[in-house]
Amino acid sequence: MKTWIIRIAIAIFCLTLLSAAGTYLFVRDAVVEMFGGHTELAKRAAPEDRTGRVLLTNVNILSEAGDAFLSGQSILLEDGKIIQIGPDLSATSGEDVLDGDGGYLIPGLIDSHVHLWKSRNDLLLFIANGVTAVREMHGTNLHLKWKDEIESGAIGPDLFVIAAQLATYNFAEGVWVDMTAERNVVRSDSDVRRTVSSLLAAGFDGFKASSFLSLPAYQAASRDTAELSTPFVGHIPIAAGLKDLWASNQSEIAHVEEFVKVLDREFGGYNSKNTEDFLNYVRERSADVAAKTRENDIVVTGTLALIDTFAAQITDLEPELKAVELEYVNPGIAEGQAMGWLPGTNRYSLPESYKTDDWKERYTRYWTAYAQAQDILYKAFLEAGVTVLAGTDANVPVMVPGFSLHDELLAMQQAGMSPAEALKSATSAPADFMGMTAGRIVEGYDANLVLLRENPLNDISASESIERVFANGRTFDRSQLDDLLQSVRTANAASRKQDIAQFR
Ligand SMILES: [Zn+2]
Repeated sequence: MKTWIIRIAIAIFCLTLLSAAGTYLFVRDAVVEMFGGHTELAKRAAPEDRTGRVLLTNVNILSEAGDAFLSGQSILLEDGKIIQIGPDLSATSGEDVLDGDGGYLIPGLIDSHVHLWKSRNDLLLFIANGVTAVREMHGTNLHLKWKDEIESGAIGPDLFVIAAQLATYNFAEGVWVDMTAERNVVRSDSDVRRTVSSLLAAGFDGFKASSFLSLPAYQAASRDTAELSTPFVGHIPIAAGLKDLWASNQSEIAHVEEFVKVLDREFGGYNSKNTEDFLNYVRERSADVAAKTRENDIVVTGTLALIDTFAAQITDLEPELKAVELEYVNPGIAEGQAMGWLPGTNRYSLPESYKTDDWKERYTRYWTAYAQAQDILYKAFLEAGVTVLAGTDANVPVMVPGFSLHDELLAMQQAGMSPAEALKSATSAPADFMGMTAGRIVEGYDANLVLLRENPLNDISASESIERVFANGRTFDRSQLDDLLQSVRTANAASRKQDIAQFR
């Protein structure tokens, strides 16, 4: 009798264990799919060899200060480094000589806010768009692996990997969030200490505060990152106010939008009826907020273009999808429920129950004011001399990796930056922030470069006129860049379940 009871108990125990493991695997697999991990990898011809010595002649080179072009220049590159710059360099020992044809040479562009998730093909999209470095803002071990592969010769931008956001949840929520969103859940001081030290040892380049980080955990992360001299960046937690930010070690805010949210909390929460009062409040507070941001040496990332699309994505999605290069977006992500882009999956779309009477008008008013508040703060930051980095939140709807940086640069120019300032926000400013020897065309610096047909200092939209990209010791001419793009389009098309022809 007794042995039977024991056998049954063991059987029940084993079944429970098996079904838990099965559920775990099922959920994990669904997560991999929703973040683009099942999409076919782009098939490309064997990667071009890394070029040894290259002499690029007949180009206009962006000055070190980034505000003028030096005409009639040549530049010698070797093994991914800039060796020499001058007006009359001539070939000496078997370099490849390339004629720049009077084009404009700028440093490779840097997107300071991207989400690669599990979408490896995006690495090619960045290169094809002249983006030679990105800051991953939800870094996992997968991204550290890609970073290593790129350093040893795979095609892709240099990766600066911020560990997935530090966030506080109760135990049950924490298990779920860890499994589905891969956030780093921390509840106590000792959790924070353990997490930060082990992720730092694993190779992550910095740490990100989530909106859902408790105030004590935020303060602990601030203390630990300061002690370990590692960047602490990201959101302003909902539990924190500006006082807490000024007292922290946080050196970057991942969106201008974060300041809109903090001022909204100070204001007491605006709605579609009191947008004018809210905007007046933002106007009153903006100069002081900007001055303190500057005083505390805090850098702000833009993501202006994304926030400008919120009202339209919520109320009238189709034209927004038509306006972007949807065929390059990983279909797993666009079709998935986590960060979906399409009607039915779009992450910003409202539940049907919210769509009562004048919902379109109300939501348009609310989100337009949100973008206006962002604009007021952005201008105040520029006036106060705050460093603003170009970032796009690539891979959240409708930010197409690589392409979105050009939209962001244009948005920054339209919102008040000069073309030279916009260019700096995507070259020298982020390179300095990340401690990279890149972002300027200077002897000894990384030869990550983009050759443009048109002058971006006249109008930043010239950033799209890409003739050639130098990245990580390789060079790609226009037809090779087009091949990269084609290979991603083909892989995406083969993995797509939902037709997107209607959005062309
Ligand atoms: Zn983001």
